[in-house]
Amino acid sequence: MKKLAVLTSGGDAPGMNAAIRAIVRSGLHFGIEVYGVYNGYKGLVEDDIHKLTRSSVTRIISRGGTILGSARYPEFKEKKTRIKAVENLRSRGINNLITIGGDGTFRGARDLHELGVNAIGIPATIDNDIASTDYSIGFFTALDTAVESIDKLRDTSFSHQRCSVVEVMGRHCGDLALYAGIACGSEFIITPETGFDRERTIAEVHASFKRQKRHAIVVITENMTDVSKLAKDIEEATKHETRATVLGHVQRGGTPQAYDRVLATEMAEHAVYLLHVDKAHRIVVMRNREITDLSIEDALAMKKETPTKRYGLVGRMRN
Ligand code: ADP
Repeated sequence: MKKLAVLTSGGDAPGMNAAIRAIVRSGLHFGIEVYGVYNGYKGLVEDDIHKLTRSSVTRIISRGGTILGSARYPEFKEKKTRIKAVENLRSRGINNLITIGGDGTFRGARDLHELGVNAIGIPATIDNDIASTDYSIGFFTALDTAVESIDKLRDTSFSHQRCSVVEVMGRHCGDLALYAGIACGSEFIITPETGFDRERTIAEVHASFKRQKRHAIVVITENMTDVSKLAKDIEEATKHETRATVLGHVQRGGTPQAYDRVLATEMAEHAVYLLHVDKAHRIVVMRNREITDLSIEDALAMKKETPTKRYGLVGRMRN
């Protein structure tokens, strides 16, 4: 009987559970035995591997996080550590592995494939920073969380004629800030792709207050600047009270919204199908609205495209 193991790795993302569920259920459909690896590559090395049944994944489609747990495990970059992982799989007769995570996770999958494991990757990260796929599992839920929070901040900013500087996640990718900024009608969107010009940002917020605007929302990607300092600088220049809000890890949690569940289910079914037909060393992706797959090497070599057209639109809408 064919056997496959599944693990979640890197930062967790809402919808990972929906993917795990679909892997188990599709596995059963194709007569494949499914094992869950706990805490990512760490669990693979520590032999924390357990059989999953239909009932192991009941009622998890709507749960945030990952029932398998995740971990950052830099030791996995060492070959001797990976050899231990492969031995643990082999001792159970498992030769197929589905990894759910981001590019770091896929690098681990690539290296396991070199040791003879049939590896498949499924993209899941709230940052949407994986170049090979249009969208990754978890992005839309995080976006909804960010939008809900920014809408609330706008209500109070409007009442008090304030400026709100809102830092959203994204690591080094501006998608979450861009989409959230558009969805909230924010006045300014600052991302790694647009670049950050402190003087210009302050001047533009100042100018918008001078045009009698009652409030201003600046949405900014994390890791770009100290947002408390930016808020202080804006307040000093404009004499309008300015608050910085860092949304942080709340964006990672919560019930996955419907589309993330659908995306996770479709990608997971595709991943299991690939193993069923003995295809491996692939990353499941969504490209031009279709679920398809690419070789791990090709996927990892891709550079994320900057959605310039959309930035142009934001530029025109700013005022
Ligand atoms: P993400 O998968 O979200 O990009 P990380 O970059 O933290 O998150 O990677 C997740 C895990 O994948 C790491 O903790 C490590 O165990 C493994 N990993 C990352 N990079 C490599 C690599 N170059 N070789 C082998 N394993 C890696």
